[in-house]
Amino acid sequence: MIIIMKTDATDEQINHVVEKLKKHGFGIHLSKGTERTVVGAIGDKSAIELESIQLLPGVSEIVPIRKPFKIVSREFQSEDSQIKIKDKIFVGSKAPLLVIAGPCSVESREQIFEIAESVKKSGASGLRGGAFKPRTSPYSFQGMGEEGLKLLREAGDKTGLPVVTEALDTRTVALVAQYADVIQIGARNMQNFELLKEVGKIDKPVLLKRGMSATIEELLMSAEYIVSEGNRNVILCERGLRTICKYTRNTLDLSAVPVIKKLSHLPVIVDPSHATGVWDYVIPMSRAAVAAGCDGLIIEVHNNPEEALSDGSQSLKPETFAELMRQIELVAKAVGRKV
Ligand code: PEP
Ligand code: MN
Repeated sequence: MIIIMKTDATDEQINHVVEKLKKHGFGIHLSKGTERTVVGAIGDKSAIELESIQLLPGVSEIVPIRKPFKIVSREFQSEDSQIKIKDKIFVGSKAPLLVIAGPCSVESREQIFEIAESVKKSGASGLRGGAFKPRTSPYSFQGMGEEGLKLLREAGDKTGLPVVTEALDTRTVALVAQYADVIQIGARNMQNFELLKEVGKIDKPVLLKRGMSATIEELLMSAEYIVSEGNRNVILCERGLRTICKYTRNTLDLSAVPVIKKLSHLPVIVDPSHATGVWDYVIPMSRAAVAAGCDGLIIEVHNNPEEALSDGSQSLKPETFAELMRQIELVAKAVGRKV
């Protein structure tokens, strides 16, 4: 349930409510908005007489949250979350679009540096690159591991771009967090609950990708796993679903953008690269995603897609990425956003 405090409630009154709820075993998640403070209380409602909370000074109303996801829900927080990356870049409805670009995998120093410089020049706001790769076949390239993380970090520092990379399992979260500014949880791991809990304990933003067969409710429940551990900095990512359509790798569920925005206050970005699997469709779907109201994009870019060790067929060449940036700027303007 959430306890909505009166607009003029004092800190002392808020603390009193919090202490009382804690005493009855509730987990507390405070949300101090510009208008009002909301106390989220997760626990067994039968453990307390609701009347006794309603009567406390400063309390305006008590609202039960019937949805299975609580802290990430709109009921809990009506204002959109604006998430900070590296204390300087904001992601969310009030911020410019976050455009993360880079190769599927870090492959070499030359490769990541060349791509980083080029996407930076075109106006990207983040650099991506996998070092631990979730490959369908155990015989495919699995990523460079820590060496890849180091190269990505160096390329990020050189260009001033924050870096995004995937943590595949609980054992490597701490290692990945040492190098990354944003930790990606991939589609295949969206319901790896131990991993979600682990990234919920760190203080870096998490990019949580929707599973290829996951419902929106399941995605939001996974986000709830992260935020309920204390890390509120979750960015959701729609990356396409497995359907009957065979001309694309997945089917981009664009309606997920407005649906998630209705249900949750968390920012949503779109990955048209994995959603289509074909480089030629990446620009049109990027335009569509921006028009649908997403808060950013994550795009695979490679300096030599033909030779890429993973996902070459969906990777844009640097010059095509520059064209993408020009095109989405026009769409962004039309829907009142900046790039
Ligand atoms: C990736 O970003 O390279 C990736 C593996 O994405 P997903 O988890 O969405 O398949
Ligand atoms: Mn990829």
